[in-house]
Amino acid sequence: MSQTTDASAAHHETFTIGTAWSAEDGAARARDLFAERIGGTPDGVWAAPGRVNVIGEHTDYNNGFCLPMALPHRTYVAARRRDDNQVVLVSQLGESVVSWEGSVDQIAPGSVDGWQAYTAGVAWALREAGHQIGGFEAALVTCVPLGAGLSSSAAVECSVGLALADLFDLGLSDSEAGRTDLVNAARAAENDVAGAPTGGLDQTASLRTTEGHALLLDCEDWSVRQVPFDLDAAGLELLVIDTRASHSLVDGQYEARRRACEDASRILGVASLREVSDLGAALAALDDEEMARRVRHVVTENDRVIQFVELVDAGRIREVGPLMDASHDSLRDDYEVTCPELDTAVDAARAAGALGARMTGGGFGGCAIALVDRDVRNEVATQVVKAFHDAGFTHPDLYVVSPGPAALRVQ
Ligand code: ADP
Ligand code: MG
Repeated sequence: MSQTTDASAAHHETFTIGTAWSAEDGAARARDLFAERIGGTPDGVWAAPGRVNVIGEHTDYNNGFCLPMALPHRTYVAARRRDDNQVVLVSQLGESVVSWEGSVDQIAPGSVDGWQAYTAGVAWALREAGHQIGGFEAALVTCVPLGAGLSSSAAVECSVGLALADLFDLGLSDSEAGRTDLVNAARAAENDVAGAPTGGLDQTASLRTTEGHALLLDCEDWSVRQVPFDLDAAGLELLVIDTRASHSLVDGQYEARRRACEDASRILGVASLREVSDLGAALAALDDEEMARRVRHVVTENDRVIQFVELVDAGRIREVGPLMDASHDSLRDDYEVTCPELDTAVDAARAAGALGARMTGGGFGGCAIALVDRDVRNEVATQVVKAFHDAGFTHPDLYVVSPGPAALRVQ
């Protein structure tokens, strides 16, 4: 389903606003794939969302604050427990279906890679954490765009993790502590099996958010607070702009930023940049100009998350735009993780009347978000598409999102 809008007769620009599958639709697709490729009926169907980070970027691995929300876009897994140790996985990725079969005992870092690392890897991580996981069969379908920065990786890990928790009666699904264990298993699959050094934000968003809320996450102790985030009541929408520029967190840039933060922490004598309270003194203590800018981003970004939540809590959600703008500018100038497509999306959205706009996710491509009044959304979308065409970029994908539920059993 999508809505097509003839956005601008003058430029002949058209765009579609992509929508997510309903739970019924997603579950039916997963069941169909299961029946077709595995056979019979699954024991249940589970779903876990991708996420968009509203503000607080590159703060998670610095023990700082971030504010993700769950997307209505989710990965659905139809799964069945087996009596032996065999694992059968199939996943519909676009037009093609990929599959893997092996023993649960053989799943380990180095023995599975690619998409299997994100799926089978979760079974390995749960076993590493001491849980009894035997054989199982799973069929996966998703409407989370892959590799777009909306965390299809966490969606797939967390849907599989939750399915395994229920299939093997691990008792992890319904408590905060249990879900935190699932976050850790999903993150271990991504870090240790897939080899992507991500920080835990994505998995926490997928497993611990609440519908209608953004999640204030303190990455020092992984405590969370549900922040009511009712855009609709304020006449606002959150427009997600997938630039479709390529990004990969499994490359040197993300590592390099993490290392710069660790090096700076060592020089400053703090356990993490979270602890820097006097930014001026910290900057004065760093000889390396580039490292100082990295630190400035992290420290000011943590402040922005707190200010953002204070405004939302005070019913002043319409005033958060400048914080989003400042976040993007800091990521562009100080942290240097944007790219021409992200900057173009943000500039065009702001110029067309967005209250605020910023890149979201790791950067180097992926998505931007724009907070817009409902009645200027089409104009913002039109101008973003036009700017992309004028610059010769690929046509962007657009979504309007509101905060959905965390991972859950849907059938
Ligand atoms: P993002 O999380 O931003 O979408 P990543 O590069 O972190 O991008 O993760 C994308 C990878 O996750 C895919 O290349 C694939 O290996 C894996 N993945 C995501 N969704 C699925 C799925 N439904 N089935 C199998 N693998 C998936
Ligand atoms: Mg990811």
